[in-house]
Amino acid sequence: MKPYTLPQLPYDYNALEPYIDAKTMEIHHTKHHAAYIDKLNAALNKYPMLYELPLEQLLADLNAVPQDIQSIVRNNGGGHYNHSLFWNILGARAQTPQGQLLNNINKTFGTMERFIDEFSNAALNRFGSGWAWLSVNERGELVVHSTPNQDSPLMDRLIPILGLDVWEHAYYLSYQNRRADYIKAFWNIVNWRQVEIHYDSAGKILADCTLNPFCVEAA
Ligand code: MN
Repeated sequence: MKPYTLPQLPYDYNALEPYIDAKTMEIHHTKHHAAYIDKLNAALNKYPMLYELPLEQLLADLNAVPQDIQSIVRNNGGGHYNHSLFWNILGARAQTPQGQLLNNINKTFGTMERFIDEFSNAALNRFGSGWAWLSVNERGELVVHSTPNQDSPLMDRLIPILGLDVWEHAYYLSYQNRRADYIKAFWNIVNWRQVEIHYDSAGKILADCTLNPFCVEAA
């Protein structure tokens, strides 16, 4: 029974400049992300046994979460999960994917450029607040998609390996209404080594019912 805590960023707030400014990163991490965690803990404190389940499990099966905290867990558990992944896949400079991930991007989307176009369109066309994702489905295939608000890909039986926050709080100080410029800047700071690690673990998670949040025998 352990409340969730704000993870440290794996780099300094100014590490992503000039693509994402330090002030945006600091507010995003210490205010927005922290608030999701506080609200998630406040809800789970009413049902402390839910701390025993992995967050992935709660998000993959929200119907198993008590009705009165379901939307709080959806929004704030999703917020915590999404932001934790987001911080992780940022922080590099001018990397490109390699190995199996690159092969499967090419196989699925044709070329890296086409993948970037498809993902960028998903980010640009998400109306209002939400996320764009590269996820792995239960057949192990790569999928580009987007979710509204803080909805997690896990709610759609997808395991995210790369995500982009397109809430205005993620870019407004530097980019104001220019979401397209923020999306373009994002590609300069993706940590593809980390995305490759997520891709590798997604395969392992899907193959093992004790880890797989979609597996009926899990939990
Ligand atoms: Mn955010």
